[in-house]
Amino acid sequence: MADMTGRFAPTPSGLMHLGNARTALLAWLQIRSRGGSFLLRMEDIDGPRSRAEYAEAALRDLRWLGLDWDEGPDVSGNRGPYTQSERLSCYEEALRRLESRDLLYPCYCSRAELAAVASAPHGLSSEGPAYPGTCRRLSAEERAERALVKQPSLRFAVPEDEIVTFQDDCAGLQTTAPGAGGDFVVRRADGIFSYQLAVTVDDALMGVTDVLRGSDLLDSTPRQLLLFEALGWQPPRYAHVPLLMGPDGKRLAKRHGGISLAAIRESGVTPQQAVGLLANWSGLLDRPEPVKPEELFEAYRERGLPREPVVVLEEELAVSLGGKP
Ligand code: GLU
Repeated sequence: MADMTGRFAPTPSGLMHLGNARTALLAWLQIRSRGGSFLLRMEDIDGPRSRAEYAEAALRDLRWLGLDWDEGPDVSGNRGPYTQSERLSCYEEALRRLESRDLLYPCYCSRAELAAVASAPHGLSSEGPAYPGTCRRLSAEERAERALVKQPSLRFAVPEDEIVTFQDDCAGLQTTAPGAGGDFVVRRADGIFSYQLAVTVDDALMGVTDVLRGSDLLDSTPRQLLLFEALGWQPPRYAHVPLLMGPDGKRLAKRHGGISLAAIRESGVTPQQAVGLLANWSGLLDRPEPVKPEELFEAYRERGLPREPVVVLEEELAVSLGGKP
């Protein structure tokens, strides 16, 4: 299937760690094991949280692992730019099209929503509870009155009885409750476009056919599907892989310490050892033996994607840092 296009889309708000690296490896294997093209997109839409040095570090870390891409911030191609902060006009245009179809409304509610919506939510609960639709029902006069004192965010109006159904390559058939999670923000009051909007526009305009990402984004997908439909675009196939968990049973994250690829590299671990560990945690190798990414094609084709979350043990983290088992 040489016409497959996949992508890895890191947010440069911190150093790449083993969890992100495993998602990148699986997304790369999904596409490269079938001869498709792979893109790298830098999701720095949330300006205040993103840093150029993390974007550079992400590219360096991914290359160190032995992954490559056909197009990306450092490889030119005809689907760019590949950095979200350089794509604002694409998001503007999408908003204009949604507005012309009467699918957006201004929301004056002041909620902590401002903080969350530009970054990928790690579970929809981080975007807050379903919006009750307060501002959707405002009259023109009420809107004008509120506009005098507050800059609104813009919300996408989801029909109350809307049920979104899709087949996920890892998680199986997904069906939302009626209302599909409620009306969601597409542009924050401070003008920053939301993750949901930006990621949908980018996946569509870049011709992405297959999205593979962590299962923490599974419940964002119905929102993105609603946007694909409203904008008249064909959605990609989705695979949401179960996450790596730390020894405490919580999502592997910075707080587990020492898991950044930079720290692992500095401790003397080779890229092949790191890839071996990630492959073992993904069910592609029975033991964490050193391996190059391209040596995993066959195992990937035979064994497919992981279906269960993996708890990474303290000793395994120590090994990843160059310690002995
Ligand atoms: N930029 C998002 C993140 O790093 C991933 C978005 C996606 O893959 O859709 O969490």
